[in-house]
Amino acid sequence: PLVLGIETSCDETGIGIVRGTRLLANEVASSMDEHVRFGGVIPEIAARAHLEAFTPTLRTALETAGVELREIDAIAVTAGPGLAGALMVGLSAAKGLALAADKPLYGVNHLVAHVAVALVDHDAASSPLAPNTAALLVSGGHTEILRVGSLARDVELLGSTIDDAAGEAFDKTARLLGLGYPGGPAIDAAARMGDPKAFRFPRGLTMPKFEGTVQSPGKHRHNWSFSGLKTAVARAAEQFEAQGLAVPTADLAASFQEAVVDVLTAKAVRACQEHGLTSMLLGGGVAANSRLRELLAQRCADAGVELTVPPIPLCTDNGAMVAALGAQLVSAGAQASSLEIPADSSLPVERIVI
Ligand code: ATP
Ligand code: MG
Ligand code: FE
Repeated sequence: PLVLGIETSCDETGIGIVRGTRLLANEVASSMDEHVRFGGVIPEIAARAHLEAFTPTLRTALETAGVELREIDAIAVTAGPGLAGALMVGLSAAKGLALAADKPLYGVNHLVAHVAVALVDHDAASSPLAPNTAALLVSGGHTEILRVGSLARDVELLGSTIDDAAGEAFDKTARLLGLGYPGGPAIDAAARMGDPKAFRFPRGLTMPKFEGTVQSPGKHRHNWSFSGLKTAVARAAEQFEAQGLAVPTADLAASFQEAVVDVLTAKAVRACQEHGLTSMLLGGGVAANSRLRELLAQRCADAGVELTVPPIPLCTDNGAMVAALGAQLVSAGAQASSLEIPADSSLPVERIVI
């Protein structure tokens, strides 16, 4: 199916067009520059920016794909989770388009879309998803390990962060190291020049009292915690400052990144093994991280888990991921959404479409 996807859950106005799992267009306008001086996304500014960027972004996407609105089979739009005001801009626009062009509308889950995009332009994507598939979702606001029976109708949460998301940890740590915003790409770059073994930072929730054993799993066996990590990085940096020494930013960044990636990959692969899952999809903004892609590929290969990762430009928020999930829903014969659906800023990952 030919599907138009609309994404406005945070600060990216994304319009993507796919035919099945083939990417035809992906236009993204970001209001990030307007939020930089505040150190985080300001909802009101993001919503206004979506309103201004929507039509030009849509036009460019249709032109790039070489399709007209009347040729589209369905319109998919992020219904949640995200910033309520930002979501409402995309949702309202999508409803208007669906009504005017008489197309089915799918109000979809942003998190599942982050996972669905791993199949875009992937060689094996034309074959159906393996029945025992896991998904590691690592984004700015979420860090979850999922069992995916079907991207259209069966997603189960197996474990998650109990405090900060992985992307949030990257952003906060980059900020305290003076590396700027957003922090993920900055830490990824700084870490290339540092030693990941220079500091041994904590691996949250890996102690036996949290993890238990296979036979008697602890409450947090498949969960993560990242909030202690930024504090550990801050303490380490302070010790250099207190002695009047230069802060070894690259070593701190590399060691921090190694701690995050080590515990993410170790727990994700173990969850696969213990739930009998033999393939894994990766998704979310942190999926762009070079060390995560490297170590996850290595550990999945060692464990006999077949890994599929999204193209790097499709990891952070965009419309193609929403279109990709829409295409899965259309192919599976899922029921379209009503034109009265609300935005749901805290939509749980198990609700794929509303
Ligand atoms: P959510 O999807 O949970 O609603 P979000 O949409 O704000 O959150 P994404 O766009 O999926 O988040 O991802 C943004 C996050 O990805 C930011 O925290 C950013 O720092 C992080 N990120 C982007 N590139 C990299 C990278 N190369 N390494 C690590 N983190 C990265
Ligand atoms: Mg963003
Ligand atoms: Fe996102």
